[in-house]
Amino acid sequence: MHLVFFGPPGAGKGTQALKMVTEFGIPQISTGDILRAAVTKGTELGKQAGPLMAAGKLVPDDLVIGIVEERLKEADCAQGFLLDGFPRTIPQAEALAKALEKQGKHIEHVVSLEVPDAVIHERMKGRGRADDSPETVQKRLDVFRQQTSPLKAHYEKLGLLRTINGVGALDEIFAAIRKSIGR
Ligand code: ADP
Repeated sequence: MHLVFFGPPGAGKGTQALKMVTEFGIPQISTGDILRAAVTKGTELGKQAGPLMAAGKLVPDDLVIGIVEERLKEADCAQGFLLDGFPRTIPQAEALAKALEKQGKHIEHVVSLEVPDAVIHERMKGRGRADDSPETVQKRLDVFRQQTSPLKAHYEKLGLLRTINGVGALDEIFAAIRKSIGR
């Protein structure tokens, strides 16, 4: 099971990803979580990524691509994985396809969680992460629309896009996701 969870900040990707981990035992690979851990640790990667994340901007492609390439080689990814927050640009998607091809694998489903901006702003109020101020949330939404949403057409063309309504009860959304991936 090789999946990508796609959607704007606050769409509920992380929440639904955890339910997938519990149900199917595949690892969740969140580039946001990996980057935040690097910032907390104060590594070289963290020093480069931290200010960009705080500003709601994307971290450069080569950095995140390197992270994911390494992560996908780990043993727990042998039976599949769920990517959460990656890819976010076309070059990231292309690098992912290439890395998987080397392992004889490919992405089977790109699950897009659709949530209106107004709902996102409302949700983020309660979260309290460092980059969740209303201004930074707006910036991250703008970045999503401009740099990440073109990926939808990319995956649509490849026949991989599964569109899910991300507003509603958590269990109903989870059921819709399972249905969309035939599991
Ligand atoms: P959200 O989905 O709520 O925006 P994430 O945890 O996925 O949160 O990402 C937080 C921040 O980490 C992003 O705003 C960006 O700065 C950085 N980041 C995470 N994943 C990527 C990626 N694939 N490419 C570039 N930057 C990323």
